[in-house]
Amino acid sequence: MGSPKIIHVETAAIRAVGPSLLVKVWAGDEYGIGECYPSAPASGIHQIVLNLEDQLIGEDPRDVEKLYEKMRRWNIFTGGQAGAVLTAISGIEMALWDLAGKLQNVPVYRLLGGAFRKKIRLYADCNAGTVDAAAHHTGEDGGILGEEGDEQYVAVAKEAIARGFDAIKLDVDDVTGPLHRDFFNGAISPREHDAMVARAAAVRKAVGDEIEVAVDMHGRFDVPSSIRFARAVEPFNLLWLEEPTPPENLDALAEVRRNTNTPICAGENIYTRFDFKPLFEKRAVDYVMPDVAKCGGLSEGKRIANMAEMEYIPFSPHNVSSPIGTIAAAHVCAAVSNFTVLEWHAIDMPHWAEFVRYSGGEVITDGHIELTEAPGLGLELNEEAALEHRHEKGGIPFFDRA
Ligand code: MG
Repeated sequence: MGSPKIIHVETAAIRAVGPSLLVKVWAGDEYGIGECYPSAPASGIHQIVLNLEDQLIGEDPRDVEKLYEKMRRWNIFTGGQAGAVLTAISGIEMALWDLAGKLQNVPVYRLLGGAFRKKIRLYADCNAGTVDAAAHHTGEDGGILGEEGDEQYVAVAKEAIARGFDAIKLDVDDVTGPLHRDFFNGAISPREHDAMVARAAAVRKAVGDEIEVAVDMHGRFDVPSSIRFARAVEPFNLLWLEEPTPPENLDALAEVRRNTNTPICAGENIYTRFDFKPLFEKRAVDYVMPDVAKCGGLSEGKRIANMAEMEYIPFSPHNVSSPIGTIAAAHVCAAVSNFTVLEWHAIDMPHWAEFVRYSGGEVITDGHIELTEAPGLGLELNEEAALEHRHEKGGIPFFDRA
């Protein structure tokens, strides 16, 4: 038998948690599956994936790192540094790892250098149920700040603990709500500040001191408001405060970090090792959270984790993917020393686990994913479940079924 060769790339748009794009890369009669997230049809990521097929046809799918660099460098003049192009490349790269593992009959974590651990710890994002990125943080999901929502967070947090999770995350930003003065201005009003602190306080009080609690601000606020809030929540001993300021200016984030004892986490809106480099150099974070379905893929995620490890910074990836992207992220978490906890964003979505048949049985048990010896990512796509949750907008083919 000669070397395997890539013959075809296919996509399907689904709503798993939010809008995801599934990617199949074929070599002979075997395929690998990957996921691009976020991938709203308007982003055009499916078309970028299909266009990238030209750079893959005839290549050996086991040469994953070479093919990643080929796709990235081919697009260096058209956005190969960040954004939709990198998200498209991430899903393909994930599919290549799955395919490479299947062809060599080894799990992906072995191809990444082997496992420090096979039981991967998750935290439950308690703001589950968000389907549209556009509808995210409009008050529909977390409840209107100051009026409702705190009890919902407490209830979901308790549900997570009952299911075996020992770490949770909640959102405190509601910039379209009645307490925020101006959507385009990142200043937190006094009543808004109090309501945000009250929400964090209510959850901490409800879950007790032994559960780790992270708080997300989605990069919406200015420096003085962020510092004031970060200091106000210091008594709640947060796991981290996530993205207080927008992702473009890492000096501003570093200034927030320097002015509070609350640990800072960021990285879900940063792409590739090159853009993570200044995050570490500027000492802007205590935790780093690349998203492997977006930042470049598994090997890029691993490189970022290795860079963080040199700074003694823990690696805690962002993740809002279906089980495909989530299990793929778990393989990276297995293969790096500084992994701390991986995000899971679907606690109130019973259909989430149905997208795959997992070699380990249940995808999540007691707040963990246990990786197996099965080849590739160790999962099979449940295509009927994916079809049932197909994203109808944008006319994206459901694989080759049209
Ligand atoms: Mg976040």
